[in-house]
Amino acid sequence: MGNIGAKEVPTLLDAEGRRIDGRRLDELRPIQIRAGPLRQADGSAFVEWGANKVMAAVYGPREVHPRHLQQNTKAVIQCRYNMAAFSVDERKRPGIDRRSQEISKVIAEALDSVVFAEEFPRTSIDVYIEVLQANAGTRCAGLVAASVALADAGIPMADLLPAVAVGKVGGAIALDLKKEEDNFGEADLPMALVPQSGRLVLLQMEGHMTEPELAQALDLGVGGCRVIYEKMKAALRERYSVAPAAEEAAA
Ligand code: ADP
Repeated sequence: MGNIGAKEVPTLLDAEGRRIDGRRLDELRPIQIRAGPLRQADGSAFVEWGANKVMAAVYGPREVHPRHLQQNTKAVIQCRYNMAAFSVDERKRPGIDRRSQEISKVIAEALDSVVFAEEFPRTSIDVYIEVLQANAGTRCAGLVAASVALADAGIPMADLLPAVAVGKVGGAIALDLKKEEDNFGEADLPMALVPQSGRLVLLQMEGHMTEPELAQALDLGVGGCRVIYEKMKAALRERYSVAPAAEEAAA
């Protein structure tokens, strides 16, 4: 989405079907997920995904601020997605803009569909997502980080929420777009999957593709989400297999 930084259009797909960074159409960028890097938050996660670097921190269930958002039957999930001023090539104007409001909303709604919010009426679960470095797909990286952070905070959920953007570049459907592909490609389609039920809880699209291409994109994205799901579970397993003494020494 967005044509920020647009100069001349690069070749997105070569004759051998390789992408701008050498990936195949069905290849993800390298992903590293760390659960629990922050000590002050109730739960946290750090995701490095290609050139994206995203931190998520979770607080709660706790008292609702502002008070009028309180719900008698369930916890309210409040999310703040923010891109740091230094996260993109040209300094981003700090503060909340329409894009970050939209992303905060779609992430909160996706998380709301898996968190057992009815267990904590009249409380708030606050999710902070800070994008430290952005290279397309940050809402997906933010969602992955947020859902691992929620699990790290011990908040009961039906499932984790892997997410990835699929798109169309150089006329072909491709998994996990990076910045040039997002800027100059024909379509960008971020999605989030509940792996155990197969439900999609976030699906957006910018650009154009045909119906068969959309079906192919959904297939590719769901496959990508399942790979990311394994990495999310591995990050949580690693976090909770660390011996208490080692944790103390790192404090
Ligand atoms: P996502 O990060 O989820 O793909 P977008 O499609 O809106 O969301 O943005 C694509 C990419 O464009 C971002 O990851 C970031 O690299 C870049 N970008 C977005 N907003 C800005 C901005 N205000 N200034 C510079 N680059 C931006």
